[in-house]
This record gives sequence, C-alpha cells and structure tokens, in this order.
Amino acid sequence: MKKTRIEAKILLTRCWVGNLSDESKLEILVRTPIEVILDLAYACIIELSENGLELLKKKKHTELPIHKDFDAFFFEHLFHDWNYAKNSFIENELKQYNHTVKISDGMEPVSRCLCCEYYTFGVGEEADWTECSICEWMWGDKNDPNPNLISLEQAKHLFSENKRIYDKKKISTEILKKYHKKGDKEIC
Ligand SMILES: [Zn+2]
Repeated sequence: MKKTRIEAKILLTRCWVGNLSDESKLEILVRTPIEVILDLAYACIIELSENGLELLKKKKHTELPIHKDFDAFFFEHLFHDWNYAKNSFIENELKQYNHTVKISDGMEPVSRCLCCEYYTFGVGEEADWTECSICEWMWGDKNDPNPNLISLEQAKHLFSENKRIYDKKKISTEILKKYHKKGDKEIC
C-alpha cells in the first residue's frame, strides 16, 4: 500500500502506542515533567480529556494501569522519534505490525551530525539545541556552535569507540540503520 511519509509515520506511531506496555508508558511519563505535558495540552498540541487533565493535576498519572487518556501524549512523544529516519527503516518497522507500506515521498530536510556524520538533525533553527539520537552531540546555534562539554575531536574519538558522549552507552547497530549516513545515495 502506498502512503506518504507523514501517513506512514502516523500509522507507525499508532501501532507503537497501541503496543506499548503500561510499564513503558509509565517510564515515559516519569521522565517527563507534568508541566511539559500540561503545556502541550493547553497549547492544544495534544488533546487530553478532562479526566486526563485532572489525573495530571492531582499527580495521579503515574499509577498503573496507565489511563487511556494519556495516549494523545504518548503519540506526540513517540511521533517525533521517526523524524529523519530512513523511509526504508519506517517501512521495515511497519512490517513488524503487519503493514506492508511503500512510502511515496522523500524525507524532511536533514543536516548531518558533525560528530558521527549521520543525518540526525533538521535544518536551520529546527536543529538548534537538539541532540543527536546516535552519539548525543548537541547542535547549538549560531552564537554557540559547540555547547557540548567536550571538543568535537573528543566526541569523534568516543564515537570511533562506539560510545555515546554523555551516558557512554554502547551505540547499537540497530540505531545506525535508522538514519542515512555520509555518502548514502538517497541523501546526496
Ligand atoms: Zn551524531
């Protein structure tokens, strides 16, 4: 079935939210300050029910089982995870949910990470103060092009040892499949 990239991302995120365990949902909620979720709701970026808002205000949102009213938040949270991912990666993920999809259009404009050289950032202001999903290099902005605590050379050295910059976790081969890298045909 042919779908636009945005349709495929929406479908994949719905599948993902639908299959998330209560424990995983809880983990996401615990990591996100309540104010952030409330701000998203007040700005109408997510539509939380009255009940969902009440649970947040009473700080009862982290009790298991996680209430359905928060699915809009999980959707918003997880949807962005597909930004800059290869079309083929999204298609493969959808296959795991028994959806055979061919994405009919190209990806959003991307910038290459200075450290790992994978295309993990948006362009212009979209990239400012965001972190590389692979190596954790922070993009910064015009005034501060390197807000990282280490030099680019040190960061590149860590990447060559397969380590992320801050948590020093090993970089999985799975995440490397997700993004285009320097020299990929599709991106050049
Ligand atoms: Zn990187």
